[in-house]
Amino acid sequence: MFGVNHRVILDMDYKELLKKARANLPVKKGDARFEMPRASVLITGRLTTVKNFSDLAKILRRDAKHVSKYLFKELAVPGDIKGGELVLQGKFSSSVINGKIENYAEEFVYCHECGKPDTVVVKTDRIEQIKCEACGARRPARHI
Ligand SMILES: [Zn+2]
Repeated sequence: MFGVNHRVILDMDYKELLKKARANLPVKKGDARFEMPRASVLITGRLTTVKNFSDLAKILRRDAKHVSKYLFKELAVPGDIKGGELVLQGKFSSSVINGKIENYAEEFVYCHECGKPDTVVVKTDRIEQIKCEACGARRPARHI
């Protein structure tokens, strides 16, 4: 009986220690960022297609619709998601698209406290927040 309890306590202590050890590690902003894949952009006539759009959204761990809404607003053009590709009704270079996606990640993905991309969107009442799974920080997400 004693042995079991003792082990549980030790286990808890170990986890606490680990937590403290992690918390004391110096966090440099920009560390542990994921490798941002470049958007694969194709311009045909007056349309711009982001070929790997659903993959990009998956890596950002955000709803593709949310990312597309951001791009429509930022680029001031309408568009559609078709079979994992994003079609924008306008001509945009790959550097413009990639720049916007980086801005999106800055605003909606990276934690502003620790700089890690391990965040999720949580909804409380009607307010959406970006919650960091690494450090626990929360901040409101702008409604777009
Ligand atoms: Zn964080």
